[in-house]
Amino acid sequence: MNTKNITIAYGDGIGPEIMESTIAILKEAGAKLSFETIEVGKNIYEKGFTSGLMPSAWQSLNNSRVLLKAPITTPQGGGYKSLNVTMRKKLGLFANVRPVVSLHPFVATNFSKMDLVIIRENEEDLYMGIEYRQSAQTYQCLKIVTRDGCEKIVRYAFEYAIANGRKKVTCFSKDNIMKMTDGLFHKVFNEIAAEYPSLQNDHYIIDIGTARLAAKPEIFDVIVTMNLYGDIISDVAAEISGSVGLAGSANIGKDFAMFEAIHGSAPDIAGKDMANPTGLLNAAVMMLIHIGQYAVAEKIRNAIYKTLEDGVHTGDIYREGVSKKKVGTHEFTQEVIARLGQEPVQLPVARFAASTQKENSVADGAINNSANDLDVSKSSLADDKIFSEKDNLTESRSLIGFDLFIEWNEEFSALITLLNKMESEKFEVKTISAKGLLLWPLSDKHMAPNFPKGQTILRFIGKGITGKSSNEIIDATKIISHENIVEILSVCIANKIDFVKYEGLYLFAGKAGYTSGQGE
Ligand code: NAD
Repeated sequence: MNTKNITIAYGDGIGPEIMESTIAILKEAGAKLSFETIEVGKNIYEKGFTSGLMPSAWQSLNNSRVLLKAPITTPQGGGYKSLNVTMRKKLGLFANVRPVVSLHPFVATNFSKMDLVIIRENEEDLYMGIEYRQSAQTYQCLKIVTRDGCEKIVRYAFEYAIANGRKKVTCFSKDNIMKMTDGLFHKVFNEIAAEYPSLQNDHYIIDIGTARLAAKPEIFDVIVTMNLYGDIISDVAAEISGSVGLAGSANIGKDFAMFEAIHGSAPDIAGKDMANPTGLLNAAVMMLIHIGQYAVAEKIRNAIYKTLEDGVHTGDIYREGVSKKKVGTHEFTQEVIARLGQEPVQLPVARFAASTQKENSVADGAINNSANDLDVSKSSLADDKIFSEKDNLTESRSLIGFDLFIEWNEEFSALITLLNKMESEKFEVKTISAKGLLLWPLSDKHMAPNFPKGQTILRFIGKGITGKSSNEIIDATKIISHENIVEILSVCIANKIDFVKYEGLYLFAGKAGYTSGQGE
């Protein structure tokens, strides 16, 4: 087997301690790896690189295509961008894969049968980090979701389930509220699920889904979800499995992959020889599978499980009556090295090699979880299906109006008077809303809301168009243009209406590409 060059980053806080432990175990286990170290994190931020990464690091990543990264400390405050988010976007790491397994009774947890994998979309959603301050009162964060992005992650989840012998894929979304963005994610999930009849599928609204995950994790197998929800539920899952110090994760893209522990840099225990290196070690096991070094991956996973089974525990999982020996990072490392070549007796024995993977899911008498999961490599996940070119990006759209976001701090009636004065051949104001609530026109005057001051949205629709979501046939002469919008904006400027932005209103094959105000 050829030696594979990988890029490593020691990170901050406990990062260097757990990386040294991981490298020592990889070397002792016979991994065919050479390491190129890049500097990331706090020092680099402090040198003025706001992405947390030296520009030269990209060259190393470009050569190796694989990064094993210890956690870093993201400085608080303006100007600094999260290194993790930058990496995921720049390297196209669209899938975050986080397996969480209960190691009961050897690691204290309330759940003996937890064995699930969270597959989180990694590039879109609120984590695009596009935020604005629009006025003294109002701040905005954009939630952007693409059909392409949803299809890629949902298909990846189903392909992962097939490749790893899993039975069910569950979708979490909040499409009862966010009907367009989360609605798209759920819709794509239903479409793709239909292509995998051998797998069960179901859907939960994120709130009840998270509650069930915290109370009955055993009912879940593979969970696929959007970026923010995935971030939150993977910490919930890791915590209830016993410790955030145990779980590793893979960030997978078409050309690159990054492996890391799920926890942060734990500054409270940094430099004290207290950190549990298991999370980063588990990430390294996923990395070895990804690059095809199955036998070494098996050896390390079996040694970790044997060490934990023998009750040799770091402080975060040490429990009187369960644990046998409390150790620090160094001693834990030596105990794992001493067990390389041994297998756990009760915890499942790892069999990662492709040929044996499906045959040895659970050893006799073992706890009901699969040590043999984790095949995240794109070669086994029908790469061509996940990244196939789509031809659905040309759907025609007609501009039929626009929402004008204005700052209005005077009486509401003064706004109505002003709008009545603003004659336009092309447009009429159909509605006025604030915070998504319809303010005007109101069918029931007794239900008039308190008219808030601040951000208010004027919905201008082309004259003669209803703009409702029905299949409205629109006379071509009524379709409006951006020039028409500019004309109206000039009238607003002349009338001293202070606007912040406008958003085009489009129909797609007669269907509205926008929501209506509550109460409309
Ligand atoms: P954290 O995960 O670092 O720590 C949370 C708690 O868990 C602490 O009490 C810590 O001591 C404990 N803990 C975490 N890992 C452990 C381990 N391996 N062994 C034993 N105990 C462990 O979360 P935090 O305190 O919210 O964040 C600290 C810093 O880490 C922040 O700057 C944050 O931005 C950063 N962070 C980085 C990453 C990453 O690089 N991937 C992820 C999360 C947080």
